[in-house]
Amino acid sequence: AVAENPNQIKGKAIPGIKNIIAVASGKGGVGKSTVTANLAVTLAKMGFSVGILDADIYGPSMPIMFDVENEKPVSVVVDGKSKMKPVESYEVKILSIGFFTSPSQAVIWRGPMASKALNQMIFDADWGELDFMLIDLPPGTGDIHLSIVQALPITGVVVVSTPQAVALADAKKGVSMFMSEAINVPVLGIIENMAYFTPEELPDNKYYLFGKDGAKNLAEDLGVPFLGGIPIVQSIREAGDYGRPAAMQTASAVEHIFDEVTRNVV
Ligand code: ADP
Repeated sequence: AVAENPNQIKGKAIPGIKNIIAVASGKGGVGKSTVTANLAVTLAKMGFSVGILDADIYGPSMPIMFDVENEKPVSVVVDGKSKMKPVESYEVKILSIGFFTSPSQAVIWRGPMASKALNQMIFDADWGELDFMLIDLPPGTGDIHLSIVQALPITGVVVVSTPQAVALADAKKGVSMFMSEAINVPVLGIIENMAYFTPEELPDNKYYLFGKDGAKNLAEDLGVPFLGGIPIVQSIREAGDYGRPAAMQTASAVEHIFDEVTRNVV
């Protein structure tokens, strides 16, 4: 769980933002963005003020996941300075690299360009007071990760992985990078996504399509907390595509699962 900002000395604090949680994955496609979106709406439902910085330059998904892909952040003047106002959806403030590029452009961005855009979204934005800023990092371990963890006092990082061996191997690299002496960001733990599948007509059966307990075992091996497993659920995928995160389905099993995982994170 989130400690009292052990990392506060590193990077520049963003005034008004209490906790910055980075969401990382070794591989793409494991559900990092889905988890970020659902953690955010769950925290907002718990009464926290929440923002998402979508730093996934290779595939920014927050505009679609929050149904704001046709919106653009507007400029506001704060203390005589012009600032970007995050777009708000379901009580979550969002800035995404996707608001400024077309999908075909994003992939050719060079490191320095992407870093500059991210810096503006962090420091030249009117985030207001936030209890939590979640950062959806690009998959893998690259320059963007380095510049973000160096620029900001990250409270902690959450690593998302499926239980599959190839995903776990990359997740392990990610965790090792964050825990390395040079970077030294607290790892809050590992979330296992796509942990199992339960068909509607067989509610008592769990099928471990990507293997069983892989992320849980990895967490144990690395000595970091296991933050819970999220099953493969059609409505989680559909909700992402419709632009209304699944955790907002009141009194559903999915809502309950995200509640539990979120409580483990914070
Ligand atoms: P990443 O950010 O790691 O690239 P995404 O969050 O974009 O991954 O997820 C990849 C795809 O898998 C998306 O289509 C998403 O809707 C789907 N998905 C993610 N998690 C789940 C889940 N638990 N159940 C069903 N579909 C999921």
